[in-house]
Amino acid sequence: MLKDQFNRVHNYLRISLTEKCNLRCTYCNPVDLPKGYFAHFDKMLPHEIEQIAAVFVQNGITKIRLTGGEPLVRKDAADIILRLSKLPVKLAITTNGVFVHDFLDTFKKAGIRSVNVSLDSLKSTRNHLITGRDVHSGVVQNIQLLLKNNFEVKVNVVVMKNVNEDEIVDFVAWTKEEPIQVRFIEFMPFAGNHWSSDKVFSYKEILEKVDEKFTYYQLPHQKQDTALKFKANGHRGTFAIISTMSQPFCSGCNRLRLTTDGKMKNCLFSKTEVDILGALRKGEDILPLISQCVWDKQESLGGQFTSVNGKPDVRHIENRSMIHIGG
Ligand code: SAM
Repeated sequence: MLKDQFNRVHNYLRISLTEKCNLRCTYCNPVDLPKGYFAHFDKMLPHEIEQIAAVFVQNGITKIRLTGGEPLVRKDAADIILRLSKLPVKLAITTNGVFVHDFLDTFKKAGIRSVNVSLDSLKSTRNHLITGRDVHSGVVQNIQLLLKNNFEVKVNVVVMKNVNEDEIVDFVAWTKEEPIQVRFIEFMPFAGNHWSSDKVFSYKEILEKVDEKFTYYQLPHQKQDTALKFKANGHRGTFAIISTMSQPFCSGCNRLRLTTDGKMKNCLFSKTEVDILGALRKGEDILPLISQCVWDKQESLGGQFTSVNGKPDVRHIENRSMIHIGG
């Protein structure tokens, strides 16, 4: 069992398959990275991902989510997905949705039932501005394709002040006929993403926007949930808010992360990383490293800052950019 010093049991692993992405969302993928930044990345190979994941699973991990960068741009993504599907875990994926149609059969073969798709705007032009690519209609079509094939679909929306908060009610309106869960994510600080507290549209502000148009009720919450879930009256789908910045949910955290270069992070905001891939390649036992990394987890937000209400000074946060961690 992977337990930390605050008695939190960890059963959820997020694995980044690649630090590359076909989109250019600046809150995730900084434009001002030095040339050749990616060159030193030594990726875990498919059999290494499988071996490392197996050790996590033998020690209590019951859910693995694949992420990135964009996991589906990796050429051997299907091979990795199918290898991991042999493990006794619930397998899920977070994607920008652009290549989903090419992977539908792989998802089915791998027993993936839950797909999180990122979409920050329902307006094609605005989505192009945010992502740097003209992909909006393809992503919406792929969400429909997933629903038609009975996948559970969650739509991730990073809400940023003066960027897309005016679409909150449109996203909730989308849940009237579609059985999706729209998840509004507060904008978080990572290396190079020019975060500032005044760009965060908080949990409270999101609910105030929803209040303007809908009556809704809260759905049951479990300790490990990162999202507080709601349902507007009479809607088929639901909406949820991930309030990392205004109301962190660290006390119930059950998550661990593995970057594409095989470093383990015990928190999205952890300063320290443990080189699991390096140890595996040297033929060392990786379990003691994993257990120690879990034990060392800080109580909240990687020990690096406080909630946005305390106006954190993010200049001192030591972390990668989101695209290099794996969201
Ligand atoms: N490429 C995939 C995608 O677009 O979903 C997976 C990786 S992406 C890093 C995972 C999630 O992190 C996405 O929903 C994205 O919107 C979210 N994300 C990235 N940077 C973020 C930030 N600064 N604040 C909040 N959420 C962020």
